[in-house]
Amino acid sequence: MTDTAQQTAKEGQKPKTFAAKAFAAQDTSGSMAPHILQRREPRPQDVQIEILYCGVCHSDLHQVKNEWVDFQATVYPCVPGHEIVGRVVKAGSAVKKFKEGDFAAVGCMVDSDRVCENCRVGEEQYCVTGATFTYNSPEPILGGVTYGGYSQSIVVDEAFVLRVPNSADLAGTAPLLCAGITTYSPMRHWKVSKGQKVGVIGLGGLGHMGVKFAKAFGAHTVLFTTSANKVADGKRLGADEVVLTTNPAEIEKHAKSFNFILDTASAEHDIGSYLPLLKMDGTFTLVGAPPKPFPIAAFQLIPGRHSLAGSGIGGIRETQEMLDFCADKGITADIEMIKIQQINEAYERLMRGDVKYRFVIDMASLK
Ligand code: NAP
Ligand code: ZN
Repeated sequence: MTDTAQQTAKEGQKPKTFAAKAFAAQDTSGSMAPHILQRREPRPQDVQIEILYCGVCHSDLHQVKNEWVDFQATVYPCVPGHEIVGRVVKAGSAVKKFKEGDFAAVGCMVDSDRVCENCRVGEEQYCVTGATFTYNSPEPILGGVTYGGYSQSIVVDEAFVLRVPNSADLAGTAPLLCAGITTYSPMRHWKVSKGQKVGVIGLGGLGHMGVKFAKAFGAHTVLFTTSANKVADGKRLGADEVVLTTNPAEIEKHAKSFNFILDTASAEHDIGSYLPLLKMDGTFTLVGAPPKPFPIAAFQLIPGRHSLAGSGIGGIRETQEMLDFCADKGITADIEMIKIQQINEAYERLMRGDVKYRFVIDMASLK
């Protein structure tokens, strides 16, 4: 055994670490400021990635403000970011998929138990003992919590690192690692296809990818938005129809017509009013994660045998499939590039729904 990290692990010690620049929130204000964190030196199975781009997900905002306190309370300092694209700068001796200089990507997970029934079928995000998420998750090797992509570098087991098939647009690829897979996976699971009518609620980071995928799968795609100024964009992105939800009569016109509706809205809204829009056996799937519970009436589900479901990101195998699908079809996210020093302003804008349609941090600004 030649690797230092493995030897120290064998001796029951933690692997050596190195310092990396990052931006972190220190408290529930969510205000982001420079921070230095420690990453482990790569073990034989790890790759060390120099982060080039990191997308800004609304989950980052929920998490730095501790809005999901009942589900996963935030541990501070919190370094968010789970839409990571970068370059491999070190590959451990046992790494097979990557070599130094390759482009690589990391999404919302960095590990799982890999042996439970869900991991065995490639759905590591539903790991029975709990996946290790990219940030604010218990860190099994160094202790403490994991730190995400608003950072210079990250060290991840290669089993949780994705290949980047479209190196032509690395920044536009970054949001696929969360916004992309979170909308692709449920559409695959519920078999969105040609001849179906599919709704997408909310035109943000997830919503705009949802519209692109529904279209790519051949569905008649209807976007529901609260923002009058997004109607034209909804059509440009591929929606066949755009419904402005400020007028309830416009929503009701679509009664009993949808095979599938994907709800990406990040804040409280009347979910029950959308359930009557489903056809018989239609499914309404939540991917948006508003912090507060919401009321649903039995008779919004019973007539028509409607299903109300949730879906979380996607497994590693499916994430790679999605990246390959996007490269093949020329799908990337519509992004607005920012410097890390603009992150607090970007959060303000994200709260107002003022982003077209994903902020991506150019990590060169952290140097
Ligand atoms: P985002 O870019 O901020 O987009 C959210 C969109 O929701 C907004 O653009 C807005 O669209 C709509 N919206 C906001 N407030 C609303 C309200 N009060 N009523 C109705 N619609 C409202 O956020 P995102 O990054 O796409 O994330 C969306 C949600 O998905 C977040 O809650 C996030 O945490 C969650 N998420 C879940 C998963 C998962 O695995 N399930 C993964 C990633 C993210 P319009 O202006 O068009 O109305
Ligand atoms: Zn996300």
